[in-house]
Amino acid sequence: MSTARTPLDEAREQLSDAIKALGYDAGMFDMLATPRRETTVSIPLRRDDGTIELLVGHRVQHNLTRGPAKGGLRFSPDVDLDEVRALAMWMTWKCALVDVPYGGAKGGVNIDPPQLLPRRLERVTRRYTSEIMPIIGPERDIPAPDIGTDEQTMAWMMDTFSTAQGHTVLGVVTGKPVSLGGSLGRASATSRGVAIVADAALERLGIEPDQATAVVQGFGKVGRGAARFLAESGVKVIAVSDQYGAIHSPDGLDVPAVEAHVDECGTVVGFAGADALDNDVMIQLECTLLIPAAVEGVIHEGNADGVRATIIVEGANGPTTAAADRILEHKGVTIVPDILANAGGVIVSYFEWVQANQAYWWSESEVEERLEQRMRAAWRDVIKYSQARTMSLRSAATCLAVERVAEAHVVRGLYP
Ligand code: NAD
Repeated sequence: MSTARTPLDEAREQLSDAIKALGYDAGMFDMLATPRRETTVSIPLRRDDGTIELLVGHRVQHNLTRGPAKGGLRFSPDVDLDEVRALAMWMTWKCALVDVPYGGAKGGVNIDPPQLLPRRLERVTRRYTSEIMPIIGPERDIPAPDIGTDEQTMAWMMDTFSTAQGHTVLGVVTGKPVSLGGSLGRASATSRGVAIVADAALERLGIEPDQATAVVQGFGKVGRGAARFLAESGVKVIAVSDQYGAIHSPDGLDVPAVEAHVDECGTVVGFAGADALDNDVMIQLECTLLIPAAVEGVIHEGNADGVRATIIVEGANGPTTAAADRILEHKGVTIVPDILANAGGVIVSYFEWVQANQAYWWSESEVEERLEQRMRAAWRDVIKYSQARTMSLRSAATCLAVERVAEAHVVRGLYP
């Protein structure tokens, strides 16, 4: 990030703008800007040589008013409490926007998974789960994968929690392997949702998919599937990147071949059918769709003016700073905000939780159909709201979500 502002500054500024637009008072801002509960835990680990290493983990429950807390668990060396607070707040808005009965949460542990052996990763996951055990559970807070975590991480969390309870609790996490109560369609849900709203945004601007080009930053769980689904719909994916670098082919990348290269080498770098490119240069390539699907703050005041995309679809959480938002709005770029664009993951997590709690499983086509219905309904809600109030899609999505959460606060009242 090229700015000293943190993701929490960005999240609070968005909330503050929404509170002003909706005419709520400072008390409501304080209530919604402050997490309901924050837990920071130590994770002591014995190294193979017998010495002890102490890691730090967090779980922040931003809001619990509309239901249990829900949000991902991030394993990254960059995790800090303010980042987790921001991500938890965005989860609250996302859940309200797509109308799933959850508040927002997020967790994080300060480690670099690629540097750890699976055995150590399992120990970190189990000890972290055991430390946050009192505040998670199917009715309290339901973690899911995020950066650096996956379905194996969720299986270890579920097993640790279940062992302590003395019985199997499938609903404690989502994003589990299908063999362990995971939902069909969950692994690809966030990417599929990104592709669905990208398609809706193209349609709104009268652009046919086969006339569109896409640039995708991040080739992990979200970016990789988004690139694949866009290519399948006819969009020409001209560049993709990961933390190691970017690759570019003006004629369009062969996405399945890039996926095979990543499976073999662990990075997009070195793919034979494309030119190498700098990540910062890639963000400024001329394209129809720019899909940031990596980390926060990558489109900022310093590079927003150079962005030459028609539409930005935010696969990542918080990829665009508030200052960049203003520049892009002035340039006429359509931004499909994160809380709408990447909500496919939490929608199918909700389906997984419902299935786990009922012990009744849906077919993949049922999951995909219901996901598409919910994504398109949320898209229509945001478009309608933005047109009625002449607002950007981000302001409309945030206001709509904040309004729903605030309304729930008001009708519940304050205890005592
Ligand atoms: P992931 O760990 O699977 O993948 C992250 C990708 O980003 C990797 O390819 C990594 O190399 C790349 N990357 C990291 N830093 C980068 C940088 N500076 N420049 C370019 N690439 C970089 O994580 P993910 O689950 O795909 O999550 C990506 C984003 O999507 C995060 O913001 C996450 O919060 C958000 N998100 C994820 C889900 C989900 O279901 N996994 C749901 C909603 C939102």
